[in-house]
Amino acid sequence: MSAEVIDGKAFAEKIREQVGENTAEFIAQGGVQPGLAVVLVGNDPASEVYVANKNKQAEAVGFYSVAHYLPEDTTQDALMAQVEALNADPRIHGILVQLPLPSHLDSDAVLNAIDPDKDVDGFHPVNIGRLWSGQSAPVPCTPLGCSLLLKERLGDLAGKKAIIIGRSNIVGKPMAALLLAANATVTIAHSKTPDLPGLCREADIVVAAVGRAEMVQGDWIKPGAIVLDVGINRIERDGKKKLVGDVDFASASAIAGAITPVPGGIGPMTIACLLRNTLTCAKTIDNRLNT
Ligand code: NAD
Repeated sequence: MSAEVIDGKAFAEKIREQVGENTAEFIAQGGVQPGLAVVLVGNDPASEVYVANKNKQAEAVGFYSVAHYLPEDTTQDALMAQVEALNADPRIHGILVQLPLPSHLDSDAVLNAIDPDKDVDGFHPVNIGRLWSGQSAPVPCTPLGCSLLLKERLGDLAGKKAIIIGRSNIVGKPMAALLLAANATVTIAHSKTPDLPGLCREADIVVAAVGRAEMVQGDWIKPGAIVLDVGINRIERDGKKKLVGDVDFASASAIAGAITPVPGGIGPMTIACLLRNTLTCAKTIDNRLNT
């Protein structure tokens, strides 16, 4: 193996420490205590653990933190009313509705109802527009983590060739906006892209966000490239359940310069960036109320 394996847990810990320090400083200067609300509909055990973890980490950095657990049969009206209550709650600066929602609920309507200034996931169309037009906005957490990591590793991204595999609203598209804003030359590949291996081989930066276990092979990677593997895929191998990414780690790590593992790479950064976004939203709202 030649690639450096990037320790996402350590990087996430560094982001959380910074958020904790900045929160203490903000409050000491008379700022409001940042507040995060997470809304979970249904009782999927994995989502419950994830939500509890978000709240625990929010409290650890000094935030006010609440979780609203709503039953599986929650109506659209009841969920919208919950969002409206959080929009109006002065203790709350960040609202996250855990996706996916049960199929009888209209996710777009719910996300569109969140006050854009409290939209810590950055999924509201107003914030998508702000991001693409270069205005300040909460940025979706996973691509934000990738972008912070790339800037820490590579410094200036100007002139770098980047390929993003996957064009979802939560990862691929916002990742492209961030890399474009950093002056990289960006290709967005997807399920209909011909010659994906050839396009990948030209890239200094590969971001894989596909949801297909170990699809990206080592011989797709330009020697020395940095590879960020966003994918989280549950597979069974040799009779054991295992988490793997979208990149074939064994072959890619022999060619890449640096690579994120799964687990322990991009995943831990997502919650850390949620905390970062919550503090940013609290500062924006506090500033608006006091000027
Ligand atoms: P998605 O299903 O919304 O999008 C997948 C994208 O991959 C689509 O744009 C599709 O066009 C593209 N695609 C599918 N097959 C392809 C192929 N053969 N070649 C090229 N492109 C192809 O997925 P998503 O929500 O963006 O998530 C992608 C992966 O990232 C999933 O494994 C998900 O679990 C993971 N994820 C991880 C985090 C994290 O915190 N680490 C956060 C979000 C998503």
